[in-house]
Amino acid sequence: MGSRFRSVNILGVRVDDVALAEALDLAARWLEQDRPRLVVTPNAEFVMRARWDQAFRKVLNSADLAIPDGFGVVWASRVLGNPVREQVPGTDFAEGLVRLAEDRYRVFFLGAGPGVAEAAARCLAAKYPGLRVAGAYPGSPHPEADAEVLAVLDRARPIDILLVAYGAPKQEFWLARNLGRVGAKLGIGVGGAFDFFSGRVPRAPYWVRRAGFDWAFRLAVQPWRWRRQLALPAFALRVLWQRLAGYRAPDWPLPGED
Ligand code: UDP
Repeated sequence: MGSRFRSVNILGVRVDDVALAEALDLAARWLEQDRPRLVVTPNAEFVMRARWDQAFRKVLNSADLAIPDGFGVVWASRVLGNPVREQVPGTDFAEGLVRLAEDRYRVFFLGAGPGVAEAAARCLAAKYPGLRVAGAYPGSPHPEADAEVLAVLDRARPIDILLVAYGAPKQEFWLARNLGRVGAKLGIGVGGAFDFFSGRVPRAPYWVRRAGFDWAFRLAVQPWRWRRQLALPAFALRVLWQRLAGYRAPDWPLPGED
C-alpha cells in the first residue's frame, strides 16, 4: 500500500519524497481512520540489507509510508538524479508523533534494553505533559515471544501509536507480523530513538546530522557499531558506481501503476 507521495527507487528500495510536516499531517489523518498503517525509515543500512534480504525488502516496499530517514538515501537520491526534498529522521518523526498525540492518542513504547522504553516514555511525558502513555515494555523481537508481548499490548489497549525499538530489520519484521493484531492505527520501527529520548545515548547535534556526519558521532559514542557501519561506504560506492554507469534512480510507480 503506497503513500500519496512521489517515491524514488534507491537501489531497489522505495523512499517517499515527503517532508516532516507532510508526514505528520498524513499520520494525523491516519490516526482518525480505523486501519493499521506501517511507517518505515529507510537509510543506507536498510538499503544494503534489502539488497539481499528479500523479506525485508518486501516489508519496506509495501509499507504505507517510507520516510527518508538517513542522510545516505537523500544523498543517493541527489547523486542518482532524482532527489527527495529533505531528510526526515525517524527519531524526529517519532517525536513529532508524540507531540501530535498529546491529549488525544495513546502511545505504546515497545522494545529497547531493560527499563529504557519506560525511561523514554517518562522523559517524553515530562516534555509533553499531555502525553498519554498506553504502556512501555521491552519484550523481545523473536517470533516465539510474540504471544507474550501481544498479551501485554492487549492489556494496554486502546493503543493508537505503537513505537517499536528492536533495531532493523527485527522491528520491521515484528510489525509486519503483529501490527494488525494490536489494534493500533500507526506502527513504526524507531531504532535507537528510545535510547535518545531517555538520554542514555546522546544524539548528534543538529548541525552534525545536517552535514551528514551522524554516523561519525554515533561511532564515537557507540564504537561497537563499526562493523554495521561498513554498510555505509559499501552503499556510497554502490551509488557512485551506478552513477558512473549512467544509471538514474527511477520514480517508484504509484499504486496501481505497475
Ligand atoms: N534492541 C532490542 N532488542 C534486540 C535488538 C535491539 O531491544 O534484539 C534495541 C536496542 O536496545 C536499541 C534499539 O533496539 O534500543 C535500536 O538499536 P540500534 O541502535 O541498533 O538501532 P538503529 O538506530 O541503528 O536502527
